[in-house]
Amino acid sequence: MTLDEAYRHIKKCKQADAQPVKCGRWENEHLENDVWWADCSNCKNETHSRFGRVSSYAFCPNCGARMDGDSECQ
Ligand SMILES: [Zn+2]
Repeated sequence: MTLDEAYRHIKKCKQADAQPVKCGRWENEHLENDVWWADCSNCKNETHSRFGRVSSYAFCPNCGARMDGDSECQ
């Protein structure tokens, strides 16, 4: 195996390991009876938080989508 082939092999393995990044946004965030509610735009599930805004969550607890507006999110 040449060095070039080895490099290509390593690159392939890395790509296979990488999980696709799911991304979403919190929608319709509102306060109801001292509880914050918001909908995930990715899985459409409603999430609530008694300790601060749902929009402070970096991930959706239901589907794991990133909510931080990271550059990995297209
Ligand atoms: Zn979700």
